[in-house]
Amino acid sequence: MQKIFITGGAGFIGSHLAEAYIRQGCTVTALDDLSTGREENVAPLAASGRFKLVKGSVLDQKIVDELMRDCDVSYHLAAAVGVYTIVEKPLNSLMTNLKGTEAVLAAADKYQKKILIASTSEVYGKSNKFPFGETDDTIMGATDKSRWSYAYAKAIDEFMALAYHQEKKLPVIVVRFFNTVGPRQTGRYGMVIPNFVRQALLNEDITIFGDGHQSRCFIYVGDVVDAVQRLVETPQALGQVINVGNNNLEISIEDLAKKIIELTGSKSKLAYIPYEKAYPLGFEDMERRVPDLFKIKKLIGFQPKVQLEEILQ
Ligand code: NAD
Repeated sequence: MQKIFITGGAGFIGSHLAEAYIRQGCTVTALDDLSTGREENVAPLAASGRFKLVKGSVLDQKIVDELMRDCDVSYHLAAAVGVYTIVEKPLNSLMTNLKGTEAVLAAADKYQKKILIASTSEVYGKSNKFPFGETDDTIMGATDKSRWSYAYAKAIDEFMALAYHQEKKLPVIVVRFFNTVGPRQTGRYGMVIPNFVRQALLNEDITIFGDGHQSRCFIYVGDVVDAVQRLVETPQALGQVINVGNNNLEISIEDLAKKIIELTGSKSKLAYIPYEKAYPLGFEDMERRVPDLFKIKKLIGFQPKVQLEEILQ
C-alpha cells in the first residue's frame, strides 16, 4: 500500500485527505506546525497504526527531505491562510507560502516523488470574466490590494512548480481550490459558513459584508479529496494547473444566510455591514467566483456529488 506525505495534514482539507487514505489502507505522515491546524483533527487516525503527525515546519528543509524520502506520493497543503492572517501578516504569509513551497519542491525533486501543490482561485484576482478558466489572466497581471500576499505567493508557487516540471521533469500537479467547506473548518479565519452557522445557533445577528448580493460556489471537502486523489493517479494531469470546485452550487451570501437561518430554526436577523467598515477587508470583495471545470471533467470525469443543503446539515 502507498505511503502518503501531506504537509498541512492536520488542517481542514489535509485531515480529510489523510482520513481517506487511512480508510483505503495506506500509510500517512502529516507535517504540520499547528498554526491553523489542530491535533484533534487527526487524533482518531492514530488508532490505525498507519498514521503519524510530525509537528514541525515546512520551512525546515531537513525534516521535509526526510519525510519526502520515505513517501510514494506527496501533497503540499501547508500554507499561511485566512483573511486575518494574510492581511495582518503579509510577510509571514509570503515567506511561508513561497519558502515552504520551495522546500517541498526541492525535496520532491531530490527524491523524484510525485507532488500535488495546493493553489487557490484567488490567483484569478478580481476578474469580471466568469467562469474562471485555467488559461485566463491571473492576479500577476492585475493590481489587487486585498489578499495580495496570499494570492501573489500562490501564483509564484504555481510558476515554481511548473518550472520544476519543465526543467527537471518533476511529476507535479497544481490545483486551484475554490471555496471548500465541510466539518472541521473553523470560523476563526473569516470563513463564511462556519461563521454564519455559529451566529445562527447563538441567535445572534448574521453579519453580511456589503449588500449580500456577492455570490460564491461552494464545494464539499469530500468532493475535493476525491478529485485530488484521482488526479495524482492520472498521468495526463502532470505539469497541469487544474481548477477544483463546484459550479453548480452558486449562491448569494444573503441567500446563504437565509438558508442557514431556515435550516437551524434560528431567530437571527440579517445585519449588513458596509465594506469600508468590514475589518480586515475594508474594500469591496469579489462579486462572484465561479470555476470553469472543463479541464478536470476531461481529465477525470469529475462531477462534485454533495449538494449545499447536505453540506450545511
Ligand atoms: P488549514 O489552515 O486548515 O490548513 C493549512 C495547514 O497548514 C494548517 O494545518 C496549518 O497549521 C499548516 N501550516 C501552516 N503553516 C505551516 C508551516 N510553516 N509548516 C507546517 N504546517 C503549516 O486550511 P485549508 O483550508 O485546509 O487549506 C489547505 C490548502 O488549500 C492551503 O494551501 C490553502 O491555501 C489551500 N486552499 C484552501 C481553500 C479552502 O477553501 N479551504 C481554498 C483555496 C486554497
